Amino acid sequence: MKQDIHPEYYQATVTCNCGNTFTVGSTKEEIHVEICSKCHQFYTGTQKANAVRGRIEKFNRKYGVKAEA
Ligand SMILES: [Zn+2]
Repeated sequence: MKQDIHPEYYQATVTCNCGNTFTVGSTKEEIHVEICSKCHQFYTGTQKANAVRGRIEKFNRKYGVKAEA
């Protein structure tokens, strides 16, 4: 169906590979991610922490999510 309207602004349901789901403001209704803030907590203190944090920051910027310490 063709829609000649502006994209709607949804509270998108984000589903992470870890099974966590949460919502963010987005023009998409559903988003699938490999990493989320919940994963971040799991990874904190591991050697992957820096790489994961970088990906989360990228994700947060992309979707306008404020990082929670
Ligand atoms: Zn996750």
